Amino acid sequence: MTQVINEEQLDYCDVLIKPKRSTLNSRKEPNVYRKYTFKWSNRTIEGNGLTVANMATTGTFEMAKVFQYNKMFCCLQKHYSFDSLYEFFTENNLSAKTLDGHICGNDYVFLSTGINTEDVNKTKRVLDTGLCKNLCIDIANGYIPKLLEAVSLFRKEYPDIIIMVGNVVTGDMVQDLILAGADLVKCGIGPGANCTTRKQTGVGRPQLSTVLDCAEAAHAVGGYICADGGITCYGDIAKAYGAGADFVMVGSLVAGTDEAEGDIIEKVYRTNEYDCYIETEERVVDGFTLIDEISVPDKPKYETKKFKLAYGMSSKYAQDKHWNGMANYRTSEGIVTLKEYVGPVQNIIDDYLGSLRSTMTYINCTKLKDFPKVTTFYKVRRILNNDGKGIL
Ligand code: 5GP
Repeated sequence: MTQVINEEQLDYCDVLIKPKRSTLNSRKEPNVYRKYTFKWSNRTIEGNGLTVANMATTGTFEMAKVFQYNKMFCCLQKHYSFDSLYEFFTENNLSAKTLDGHICGNDYVFLSTGINTEDVNKTKRVLDTGLCKNLCIDIANGYIPKLLEAVSLFRKEYPDIIIMVGNVVTGDMVQDLILAGADLVKCGIGPGANCTTRKQTGVGRPQLSTVLDCAEAAHAVGGYICADGGITCYGDIAKAYGAGADFVMVGSLVAGTDEAEGDIIEKVYRTNEYDCYIETEERVVDGFTLIDEISVPDKPKYETKKFKLAYGMSSKYAQDKHWNGMANYRTSEGIVTLKEYVGPVQNIIDDYLGSLRSTMTYINCTKLKDFPKVTTFYKVRRILNNDGKGIL
């Protein structure tokens, strides 16, 4: 018999965070970093939970370098060859430093893999070098039994690596994956900006409810979660932390940066404004000749906007580009979009940290880890009082 769950399911746009009386006087005071100790690998890393998605456009070596400098995480895209991964991990292991001068090696970088034989073989080759310490096992449907098997096998063969795995949206499966050997579980089906899974399959769950449910389940068995997808603004990241997320994965937020894959695409748009020229007109008033200057619209003004291409990893575009075309038993579950070019990703990181400090000051949150303890959500109908955009 078909069941309907009546409990309301919420997204980031359905809530706002309630401000609280604060002991913090300045945005400089909250600590935006915390220590993460991972259940199975038992390693401890200090960092901030912002994590780059392993999409082909965002999970680049260049992105990983900036994120690790900021003590933040990056899941590399799956399509790097063994040779380029080996070269990156070797060099990074020797030279990578964080902003406080700490030599971090490959601590903040995740190798990404699927679970087909080819992926697993390449992944094992990389892990066997001993250079790479973190693994993200990533498949769209985290409910298939083969994923649990893959997690157990990797855990058995590589007891010290941090294993992230996904994607799921329910607490029961989060616990199964952690108990099988995952340190953290990636949660989210369908919220991504370039994702059409909800439309194509009818499957999914609003992201705030996913995070609330999955975080509670993960923490109950000593694991972590990574809220994956659907971040439209910095406020959404704060809401994810408030709902219990330990890590927050972003794709489109960083897809328009220098460090994202792909060339800058320039497009020229006609605006509503015109270049004008001045005409003079003479008129005689009371015997005096007056000269009026009249501004006459001439050519329309054009403006050039810069973009980078962003595409869902299940889109036909991605499958053509990275997997030699779409298998006939599959459908496209992603789209291709243009992201406005925004320059270096460091600008986004700085802006994000400023926003996070501000949220923490509003809710009296001195430590990143305490976010869920001090968060109360208002359920709302509308979160913006305008479109969020000014002219400057
Ligand atoms: P964003 O931050 O762009 O909203 O979401 C990023 C996340 O979207 C990724 O980490 C991944 O989980 C998901 N994603 C990326 N590409 C696709 C796709 O083609 N289809 C689906 N269903 N999800 C995608």
